[in-house]
Amino acid sequence: MLELKNIDVFYDNIQALKEVNLTVGEGEMVTLIGANGAGKSTTLRAISGLNKPKKGEIKFKGRVISSLKASDIVRMGISHVPEGRRIFANMTVMENLEMGAYIRGDRGNLKRDYDEVFSLFPRLKERKNQIAGTLSGGEQQMLAIGRALMAKPKYLLLDEPSMGLAPLIVKEIFSILENINKLGTTILLVEQNANMALNVTDRAYIIKNGKIELEGRSKDLLKDEKVKKAYLE
Ligand code: ATP
Repeated sequence: MLELKNIDVFYDNIQALKEVNLTVGEGEMVTLIGANGAGKSTTLRAISGLNKPKKGEIKFKGRVISSLKASDIVRMGISHVPEGRRIFANMTVMENLEMGAYIRGDRGNLKRDYDEVFSLFPRLKERKNQIAGTLSGGEQQMLAIGRALMAKPKYLLLDEPSMGLAPLIVKEIFSILENINKLGTTILLVEQNANMALNVTDRAYIIKNGKIELEGRSKDLLKDEKVKKAYLE
């Protein structure tokens, strides 16, 4: 279980998160939705140790992780796919995936791990020797997710995987995310595309101006009049 308790995060004197409370239980697929600048990326960056909270506590499997280094948090099993996909553009698909495995101590099962990623993303298999910078936007997003999976995370944090992609490819990626979740990886999905995100997740949080405004079951929020008006129309 991942647990954020009363988290405040500041950038200099600007407060980006205000007493954020959020939990993601093992096996769940949860979304955090909100408009531009609401604090979604900052929440993920706080979890993965990139922005230290000024107040509050983040716990993972009963242990306080908010004081740990980002590299230790990855090793505990939390992988972060940042916004904007930062793949290694000059390396091939295979080389990018291999980089994702470096974080792990064992390198014995690399072949099996490639096969697992390729079975989730057949498009990457077809393009395994292609230079990553020449992939389409959707394929690059798949590669960023595949690379994170090579670290064998228990929790996957995804920052706007739908950004800049056509609806059909977004559908394809979200359906793969559902598969990844069914195979046992817990997912926290940050999205501006509220409609898609609420349709694939179990629970949702809505963040506004750094504060959690609403939380509930995704299928209930899809029907909520206020949510419809503010995020779905
Ligand atoms: P987006 O979808 O645009 O990425 P977001 O919901 O992810 O939005 P954040 O990136 O978390 O929002 O930003 C939350 C607030 O913190 C915003 O007001 C933003 O301007 C501010 N902020 C984010 N990063 C920095 C930074 N490096 N320095 C100063 N302020 C920042």
